[in-house]
Amino acid sequence: MRSRTLKNYVACLLALFLFVQTAGQVHAVSAKPEDTATRENVLEVLRQYDPNAYHIMTTETSFDFMMWFMGESLISRIEVAVHETYHGYTHSQSDVFYGERIYLGDGKSYDVDYSIVYKGGGFTKTEEMAKQIPSQLQTFRYDQYVAPGASPDANTKGVFGLLNEFSAYYWGLETMNSLSQFLLDTDSGAESWNSYVTGVGNNMTAYAEFKYWTLRYMLYIKSANPALYQAILDNQDYCAAYRNLDAAFVSEIARSKEILDRSAGFMRAKGFSVNWSDSGIYLENGMFSSGLGLDDYNKLTAELKTAEYAAMDSALKNAGSEQTETPSARFSDVPSDAYYYDAVTWAVERGVTSGTSTATFSPNSQCTTAQILTFLWRANGSPAPAGSSSFSDVKSSDYYAAAAAWAYETGIVSGKTFGGDAPCTRSMAVTYMWKAAGRPSAKTADFTDVPVWVDYAQAVAWAVEKGITSGTSANTFSPEEICTRAQIVTFLLRGVGG
Ligand SMILES: [Zn+2]
Repeated sequence: MRSRTLKNYVACLLALFLFVQTAGQVHAVSAKPEDTATRENVLEVLRQYDPNAYHIMTTETSFDFMMWFMGESLISRIEVAVHETYHGYTHSQSDVFYGERIYLGDGKSYDVDYSIVYKGGGFTKTEEMAKQIPSQLQTFRYDQYVAPGASPDANTKGVFGLLNEFSAYYWGLETMNSLSQFLLDTDSGAESWNSYVTGVGNNMTAYAEFKYWTLRYMLYIKSANPALYQAILDNQDYCAAYRNLDAAFVSEIARSKEILDRSAGFMRAKGFSVNWSDSGIYLENGMFSSGLGLDDYNKLTAELKTAEYAAMDSALKNAGSEQTETPSARFSDVPSDAYYYDAVTWAVERGVTSGTSTATFSPNSQCTTAQILTFLWRANGSPAPAGSSSFSDVKSSDYYAAAAAWAYETGIVSGKTFGGDAPCTRSMAVTYMWKAAGRPSAKTADFTDVPVWVDYAQAVAWAVEKGITSGTSANTFSPEEICTRAQIVTFLLRGVGG
């Protein structure tokens, strides 16, 4: 009897203890995220689930982040609140007077000096390059950030304003990813998961948009404002922030995918599924279906894979790394502002060519048939030919013997002689590249000097469609013009590189 009472007493104390513990935890994250957000909830959730966002929100206190909630639920607005508060953080925390602090988490940051914006001297706004963006790539943030009259900072601070937004959207995605665990812990419903996938898709799309605009801006000023272009490449903090943010953003996108895949099981148990496919991220259960399409994300990431953007991306990233010497730097005849600089760098790195001597590339020398076919063969991975060629003018000791045999076997060249020393014309160059690519079909190009019946018409059309060349004027292609070595490596980078 007595011992039984004692047992009950202990059990009661234990229950009370557990109740207090549980009550404390419930209070700490305050029930469901559908509830109207309060300042305390927001901070407590971030403190527990996203220490970096908590750092941003508690360091930047010049305005009340609750203005971004306006009576809405915590989960639907928290990413916006972090994004907007982060803008205040970049301005208020920087040690550089005309600069911004780009935060990369765990105390890591870059103070990027952008005093060049205020020095004047022809600083380029984003709106000046806006007309270079084709209409099909004018995604839904285009008007807001890059079009004429777009939001002041993103526009007037050019590529620095774009970096600031790029990093703010990064923190938006990081916040959404971190809060997925909060949704699982609080047994959240469809509304919360819907806000979640929408937030993820939104910030993913922003990744592609801001990266595209940043590289488009650099490509634009490379010719329109070369001094500014060089100043940005020389801005080590800018380049390092860009490089590190890009890597961090890419890994957050991969993390989103994992989270959504993992959450699918959880949601399925509740009669929902989280579907992630190339076209979008969606939440459905037959009655309820919503989410976010990834059309813009897909369009822009495809564009970013093209040679022009890939080369600019690596130029920015390499400029910010410790080692800044590129292979082209050793050629005395390849100036760093030459249009073919990136192509020569690519060609040397890829083993397509090593120059005409250790110190020269001879960019303006005529390119021979033997040279272009050798470059093309190497750019395709130097595949071993089945045998030697039967060309009467190719000796087995010639440096291009294997390339000639490969070109014959793959049907790129035919006949009894190879003509390795013959100069390579523009029509020959695109024909060789087109055949090596498997003779893809293309819409007819509109050049007065390329009649539809000539045998290279399809190759010219393909080269234009792929952005390898746009012709020598609006309506001429100049098929008989002889290519220089600089032109050939540029064509190859655009056609085979990336
Ligand atoms: Zn913003």
